[in-house]
Amino acid sequence: MELKGKKVLVVGLGKSGLAAALFLRRRGAQVTVSDVRSAEALAKDIPALLDEGIMVETGGHGLLTFRRQDLIVVSPGVPLNTPELAQVRSFGLPVIGELELAARFLNGKTLAITGSNGKTTTTALVGDILRKAGFPTLVGGNIGVPVIGLIEQSTAETWSVLEVSSFQLESTQRFHPQIAIILNITPDHLDRHGTFENYALAKERIFAAQDEHDAVILNADNARAAQAAARSFAKVYFFSIEHSVLRGTWVENGFVVYRPGKDDPIEKIMPLSAIPLKGAHNVENVLAAVCAARLAGATVEQVRSGVEGFQAVEHRLEYVATINGVEFYNDSKATNVDATAKAITAFSNGIHLILGGKDKNSDYSQLAQLVRARVRAIYTIGSAAAKIESQLRGVVSILSCETLDHAVSAAASASRPGEVVLLAPACSSFDQFENYEQRGKVFKELVAERRGWNVWQRA
Ligand code: ADP
Repeated sequence: MELKGKKVLVVGLGKSGLAAALFLRRRGAQVTVSDVRSAEALAKDIPALLDEGIMVETGGHGLLTFRRQDLIVVSPGVPLNTPELAQVRSFGLPVIGELELAARFLNGKTLAITGSNGKTTTTALVGDILRKAGFPTLVGGNIGVPVIGLIEQSTAETWSVLEVSSFQLESTQRFHPQIAIILNITPDHLDRHGTFENYALAKERIFAAQDEHDAVILNADNARAAQAAARSFAKVYFFSIEHSVLRGTWVENGFVVYRPGKDDPIEKIMPLSAIPLKGAHNVENVLAAVCAARLAGATVEQVRSGVEGFQAVEHRLEYVATINGVEFYNDSKATNVDATAKAITAFSNGIHLILGGKDKNSDYSQLAQLVRARVRAIYTIGSAAAKIESQLRGVVSILSCETLDHAVSAAASASRPGEVVLLAPACSSFDQFENYEQRGKVFKELVAERRGWNVWQRA
């Protein structure tokens, strides 16, 4: 794809929009960036863009902005069905996302990971295994560096391990990973995708350009992810914690095992007890990662030692501290109901659960059964509180706390030795926090204050 002299409009100035604009400019394109946010809100990025000779439009998009462009690059945060984008598409202008743009320039092989939950953990894990095994490995996408930022370092030998979201996949055309993983598909982001099926179909785009030389790894235990097999042209591998599979990874007699094909011998990879992460959901992530790393060429020994040396990613069921015999866990990244369900499942009982934040059109009543079995009390925060309280009324006692600060004090005072205070809010954070990272940090600070020592020293 030749970019020199091309007029390119980048819509949305997030982290990946910024990286895309700078990349396009360096390749000689005439670049304009347009964002609906105000100049003040974007102040920190504008000077760097202007210095590079990139035009910047803030506070909305003029209709003319979309005219006379050769290419439009849309940031993942921007819905594809805005009236402006619908119109330019009708003119026949190419509209692509940052992932698609990057994929056209990235060298080497790609291993891409999507799913409703577990993407970051699994991406970091696969990245670690391959890097430690000595493969030239780059890790990016939704995690850390946008894919565009990996291009310059990528060579023909590189494995790029990419975390990709449904928002990014929605606008791909030729994105073609040699190995793709769909960890699970459970309801999330329905505010953006409209229906569950649309969301699932966006996830399936991860294998749309694959052929029989490629591999797709699917979760046999997740109905919607498993069904995707019917539409894949690649070689399908499964992982399961419930039963054996013909090709792929599963759990047998307390061991993670792998079989590349139905007539091949079963490889014993490692005992479950050697997995350094909490919760059955993390066993699923390990199964997916093991399958991917074996397919990429890591040996059994390399895979085992990569998994054993892996540490939980911050804000993902992260152990914070034990105070008066009560354990505190930070799962701020549990921003949907399924992730919260998995977090609850990781503890047998005595959970003091902090729930709430900004609702994403979720159904919290799905948690009722698990809550009844394992949770002692719920502490609600944020704007979703009233909805959560009405959907879980009568299941366990619910204390309306409004803020995280109140919730941590109330939960800490009510809990007894051997119990757990768990932040796994099932909501996004944007009503009270900048993002889930800040919410998790505040939680850890509040816990540290209770302890009277600085939790950061642990890290
Ligand atoms: P993502 O990048 O897809 O959001 P993360 O690894 O950041 O995934 O984890 C997001 C949340 O989901 C965390 O709360 C984590 O504990 C939980 N989680 C991780 N893996 C899984 C899984 N396989 N299934 C369900 N929940 C998971």
